Amino acid sequence: MPLYEYYCEDCQKDFILLQSTRVDKSATTCSECGGANTQHRMSACVAKIPGSPKKLSSPVTADELPKKSVLNLPLPRLRSEL
Ligand SMILES: [Zn+2]
Repeated sequence: MPLYEYYCEDCQKDFILLQSTRVDKSATTCSECGGANTQHRMSACVAKIPGSPKKLSSPVTADELPKKSVLNLPLPRLRSEL
């Protein structure tokens, strides 16, 4: 289920609800004060997704990497070792 962001005009607070897409957004009440004067703002789950959807649907295997040596990179040193 997607997350929906609301703004309550009664207590002037933002709140986020996990709701089904079938829920009537205009009938949503405030989670803080229970008021009905809420405004649907946006869906948080579609706001920012880094990378392209194509890369997510087709993961790269080790054989497709340009250089297999990139898998053997040394771990970054801890700050205390510098
Ligand atoms: Zn409220």
